[in-house]
Amino acid sequence: MDLQLTEEQTMVVDMVRRFVRREIVPLEDKLDPDTDELPEEDHGRLVAMVKDMGLYGLDIPPDYGGPDIDMVTRTLIAIEMSQHRAGLYAPCYGVFGGAGLAQLFEANDDQKQRYLYPTLRGEKKVFFGLSEPSGGSDPARAIQTRAVRDGQDWVINGQKLWISGADKADYGLLFARTDSDKGRSGITCFIVETDWPGFHVRRIVHTLRSARYATELQFTDLRVPDANILGEVNKGFAIANDRLSRQRIPYAAVCIGVAIKAHELAVEYAKIRHTFGAPLASRQAIQWMLVDNEIDIETSRWLTLVAADKARRGDPFRKEAGLAKLVATEAGGRVVDRCMQIHGGLGVAKDMPFERWFREMRIRRIGEGPNEVQRHIIARDILGMSLR
Ligand SMILES: Cc1cc2nc3c(=O)[nH]c(=O)nc-3n(C[C@H](O)[C@H](O)[C@H](O)COP(=O)(O)OP(=O)(O)OC[C@H]3O[C@@H](n4cnc5c(N)ncnc54)[C@H](O)[C@@H]3O)c2cc1C
Repeated sequence: MDLQLTEEQTMVVDMVRRFVRREIVPLEDKLDPDTDELPEEDHGRLVAMVKDMGLYGLDIPPDYGGPDIDMVTRTLIAIEMSQHRAGLYAPCYGVFGGAGLAQLFEANDDQKQRYLYPTLRGEKKVFFGLSEPSGGSDPARAIQTRAVRDGQDWVINGQKLWISGADKADYGLLFARTDSDKGRSGITCFIVETDWPGFHVRRIVHTLRSARYATELQFTDLRVPDANILGEVNKGFAIANDRLSRQRIPYAAVCIGVAIKAHELAVEYAKIRHTFGAPLASRQAIQWMLVDNEIDIETSRWLTLVAADKARRGDPFRKEAGLAKLVATEAGGRVVDRCMQIHGGLGVAKDMPFERWFREMRIRRIGEGPNEVQRHIIARDILGMSLR
């Protein structure tokens, strides 16, 4: 892998950095600390600017109107784009499409007309429904939601838990068991609309996240036509798995961006804050925290870029994406924690973004596959064992 950024990459990174510092940070400074969405007019203006810069929908293939930007450059952009208070949300201002969209590029023409294109135009929202009360780490075994054939339709009964944004979505990808004897080969992906009879948002689940939440869903005789099967019957698990591996790279990248921003704030503060007649920056205890931040940031950055480079080349990248997700989420949490400590009382006040990043970073060790599961995947890869 070439460690030197190309001229084009340097230019794009500079452009995004200026955009974040000039346009996003000043607006977010005025926001309620627990909100991550700007007023509609500001949000719309930023999305228009992202479009003008040619960065809208980085995960949308060029054939569908997305920019033709390689995975390494996309990762560099995500790292820059997240250096602000709501930075842990990769879909911020349309830079990434969000959950569920990636799989729809594999949909048939009819499904693309009904779901993909309206979503790309911003007219419809999608959710990704895999996890259930019975477990999210090992969905191949845990999925209990069942779909049973009835004429030209399927009838779905069951529950999902932790599903982000389902209460505001128009439709979603719903993974259900269609053959109970076949484990991961018995799961099918259905496209379901949220206003169909039998689809019910049972409750909102509040978490450490303040502004965003998850939902619990209930399906009671939810009737889905054959035409709404994404891919093939019993081949849905591969659809879910592919999405999870790909998502881990931008998921890691935004943690790195937030860690960089937190570290930058701590470095500035350590220079100006005095205790016992000297700046914090002169104390070895503080210097070592800053050095440890550098170690965490650089380790995460390079592991994530290596995963992105493998994905760009079309090489297998499952292990590298898992390593990047694991290291960046844990390192990001440590960096934010140290920066909080350096800021003293101010570190835990809502005047500063640390307490919010601290909460959000904690969730990241669980979301997109808990870190223990990443270790499980990597260990199996090292030992040459198949995943069971
Ligand atoms: C805020 C939020 C939003 C989410 N959004 C979505 C969404 O939109 N769509 C969706 O489908 N899911 C979503 N999830 C679900 C998320 O992916 C799951 O929470 C996650 O996969 C873990 O599943 P679980 O909570 O059932 O924990 P479990 O599977 O019960 O695991 C519990 C714990 O056991 C440990 N563990 C598990 N397996 C192993 C192992 N092999 N070795 C060692 N330890 C292990 C881990 O520490 C894990 O945290 C979301 C979760 C949260 C918190």
